[in-house]
Amino acid sequence: MKRERVVVIGSGPAGLTAALYTSRAQLSTTVFVGKLLGGQISTTHEVENFPGFPQGTTGPELVENMKQQAEKFGAKLVWDTVSKVDFEHGSPFRIETEGGETYSADAVIVTVGANPRELGIPGEKQYVGRGVSYCATCDGFFFRNKTITVAGGGDSALQEALFLTKFGKTVNIVHRRDSLRASVALQTRAFANPKISFTYDTVIEEIKGDATTGTVKQIVLKNLKTGETSEQPTDGVFIFIGYDPNSRLFGTQLALDHSGYVVIDGHMATNVDGVFAAGEIHDSIFRQAITAAGDGCKAALSTINWLAQRESNLQTLDTPVVEANPQ
Ligand code: NAP
Repeated sequence: MKRERVVVIGSGPAGLTAALYTSRAQLSTTVFVGKLLGGQISTTHEVENFPGFPQGTTGPELVENMKQQAEKFGAKLVWDTVSKVDFEHGSPFRIETEGGETYSADAVIVTVGANPRELGIPGEKQYVGRGVSYCATCDGFFFRNKTITVAGGGDSALQEALFLTKFGKTVNIVHRRDSLRASVALQTRAFANPKISFTYDTVIEEIKGDATTGTVKQIVLKNLKTGETSEQPTDGVFIFIGYDPNSRLFGTQLALDHSGYVVIDGHMATNVDGVFAAGEIHDSIFRQAITAAGDGCKAALSTINWLAQRESNLQTLDTPVVEANPQ
């Protein structure tokens, strides 16, 4: 079993920032990268709002810089996914990976993020990568001059729809209600864009494809007010209906809110002493690279303090009580 002072689960901006701080504080730190180094930000092409990059940067470049900076101070990145954790027996915590490794960590920082939510309709899984996508920046390029459908009515749906107008001939936003959840600023931009249209009170019931090419060709729409169904031709369906936190790994060991996000206190501490959380695994509201990085910094500082406090307590316990010299 490998022993570490700190294990960081996840390698997005939260995880890499946490690792930078803990390794710079001379605490041996291993980061379990998971399925994708950098998490969601690594699939974002243009990053214009991360401070310190006046000309903007790309997701992969930002992640690579963060990785190098953490490694410079000794953080070790392991290209493996955590499959099991034991938080119930307290620190040191036991961590097992899909690759068959077992680690023990004095403290753990959980930064496993969230995944895009699926519609769960026929054709969705079948046509992923063949017209169905959850990432406009990854796949938008393939839809030049095509007819695009976007599902959702929140900030993500409108922001990504605006981005997709760079490529598509038209972008139709299908939303299940008659009013959008997205911010007024995004709504104003979307309403002003001649390529964007809206279909309200409607859900996509099925995604159909062309048997010969195996790509998306049509969607079945259902108007929730009239109950009417119709078929509409489309080349691509981009789904932005929110995100689900990747908290399944923790089972009942970490306290979660009703949506599955890890509950933390003002010091990024979870309900388990010595386990901290940062980034989208606890944050369903801000979801920005910079807020995740800030969270990672806070979680690392709390971890450093927690370990120092614990050591000083242990030292106090180990030190024999010296009787005051009566003379
Ligand atoms: P969201 O705000 O939860 O919106 C999800 C949208 O999808 C809602 O319009 C919802 O409809 C719809 N929806 C959910 N489940 C559905 C289903 N099964 N079928 C059809 N439609 C469904 O998620 P988000 O847009 O990803 O944003 C998440 C958070 O990140 C928000 O706090 C947002 O402000 C933030 N964010 C910010 C920015 C930015 O600042 N530029 C960009 C992206 C995201 P209802 O409205 O009817 O519930």
